[in-house]
Amino acid sequence: MSTIKAPHNVPPHVLMLQALYHRLPQSHDQFAYIEKKVQNELAGLYGESRLLYPLSKFPIPKVSMPNIRLFIDSSYFQIDHLILTSKFLLILESKYYSADLTFDQVAHQVVQRIDEEYRVYDDPVLQVEEQAYQLSNWFNANGFPELPIESFVVMTNPRTRLRIDATNNHHAEKVVSLQRLPSLFRELNAKYEKNIISPRILSELSQKLIQQHKPYLPNILEKNRVSENELLRGVYCLQCGKLGMKMIQKRWRCPCGYRDRTAHENSLKDYFLLISNEISNREFREFTGLESRHTARDILRRNSSELVGKTNVIKHRLSYDYKTDFNYLNIITKFLQTRRKNR
Ligand SMILES: [Zn+2]
Repeated sequence: MSTIKAPHNVPPHVLMLQALYHRLPQSHDQFAYIEKKVQNELAGLYGESRLLYPLSKFPIPKVSMPNIRLFIDSSYFQIDHLILTSKFLLILESKYYSADLTFDQVAHQVVQRIDEEYRVYDDPVLQVEEQAYQLSNWFNANGFPELPIESFVVMTNPRTRLRIDATNNHHAEKVVSLQRLPSLFRELNAKYEKNIISPRILSELSQKLIQQHKPYLPNILEKNRVSENELLRGVYCLQCGKLGMKMIQKRWRCPCGYRDRTAHENSLKDYFLLISNEISNREFREFTGLESRHTARDILRRNSSELVGKTNVIKHRLSYDYKTDFNYLNIITKFLQTRRKNR
């Protein structure tokens, strides 16, 4: 299994999957599935991050919005990368497929060949066209002027071999390589000559989109049919990537020799991602293996924003920033992937 570089901005549901991967015993039925899913999500994010450089060369002022998720007509739709300009809108869907890909415009499928094995995916061009349709509905519903919408599928893995038949216009026009982006941007800029909205409306539009963006926050255990009591307990060591730190004299110590006063913080974050944003003293001790009720109380007081609950079970409320507080997950994911690869 290849180890994936840390991506730029990990959406919450991927953080949740990573935490689940770290806390699922290898003997669990879902382990291989979750591991594969984490790998695919991180590869996809790595692919998305490869759009950033070509986007930095965009020829006109633009607002770039990665991973935006909006609600319209009683359901959500998600766009990998939405680019707003005063002249047109651009949807880019990045795909980090590997190996050999054949695009079929009749069956609307992508067929991936790895050695002698074939895997079939939904047509990503239909997917971006659907997103364009939903986006235009969203514009109407929110009273913004109608801008032309362009949509493309960007293949972000340079080692992928694309097979698109010369008569297959449906895919030939809409599936582009990363290298094609700078010239595509210039062509679009030339195609749309006049500004439709002012810089002020453009800024209002981006504010409104940010406001209405609803991140995907699934109940990750339920979704993957894992129950809370199946999760591995304990505190991870960021030096050796193993569970099993013990609290001795107010410091967490790992059998590898590493010491850390605040190693429990990552366990609280795992708890937040996997189980709940509220935790009691007992739940915290059970999750981390910490024995002292008093130490647990001190830690929870330092790490939670407020107390909730009126009865005898007091819970501490955890609150974290998905953008900045979860970098430890990539460290642990890498340890696990490396260890599995070397087995
Ligand atoms: Zn260690």
